[in-house]
Amino acid sequence: MTTLSRKIAAGQKQAPLLPSVITRIKQRTGAGRSTLAIFDLDGTLFDNRTRTIFILREISEKFDRSTPQLAAAFENFQNLSVIDYSLDVTLKRLGVRSRAEAALIRAEWAKRFFSDEYQKYDMPIPGAKQYVERVHKAGATVIYLTGRDVGRMLVGTTEVLRLYGFPVGVAGTMTIVKKEFGQDDEIFKKEVSGYIDRLGEVVAVFENEPANSNILHARFPDAASFFVLTQHKPGAPALEPGIRRIKDFRQCKPRSK
Ligand SMILES: [Mg+2]
Repeated sequence: MTTLSRKIAAGQKQAPLLPSVITRIKQRTGAGRSTLAIFDLDGTLFDNRTRTIFILREISEKFDRSTPQLAAAFENFQNLSVIDYSLDVTLKRLGVRSRAEAALIRAEWAKRFFSDEYQKYDMPIPGAKQYVERVHKAGATVIYLTGRDVGRMLVGTTEVLRLYGFPVGVAGTMTIVKKEFGQDDEIFKKEVSGYIDRLGEVVAVFENEPANSNILHARFPDAASFFVLTQHKPGAPALEPGIRRIKDFRQCKPRSK
């Protein structure tokens, strides 16, 4: 069994806790209590690889004379597994060896990737929308807590959440982004967690970055903490005990009855 399949198997084994979050929210809501569920976006509710592949395809078309190696890669493009967390690794896998070409692609990719216009090319993680909807309907406030920034990405973030039918902009939802792009993600999430703590009882936290997952688990030890097995920064710390690994949100489909 590979490391990944072991992780997935672990996720499946631990999945029953997902429905138990809904039960807990309903109980607290019934008792007139305020509950909160924190969802990261990139790599947690959304797969960003489709955003990157769309952007690279666009760059290969628009700058075709300056990006021949990238253009050639699309002749044999097979699937999204070629897209790594690191753009440099992705370009190597795609056969882009020219430094000048890679520099141009990196600059053009960054302009697009961190912008409102291209977020609609993200794909929701399977089951994510249904699960967030259930959390919201059960009575919790859904908090989208993301390292995206207000100046370049808030509008696109709201747009893509609405596009896929996630609850957004309505009572029982909150979107918290960074004021400045350059802010450190981990410090941002740590600082904001103090504010969130004053709003009510955090019952669940969903993350795909081990560092953030550990920070939020330490801050909200009574919440169910979930780690989504997608992609994360290289060199991440080990996940603290007590954090559940999940492959996606599909295990939480309502029973047919
Ligand atoms: Mg993330």
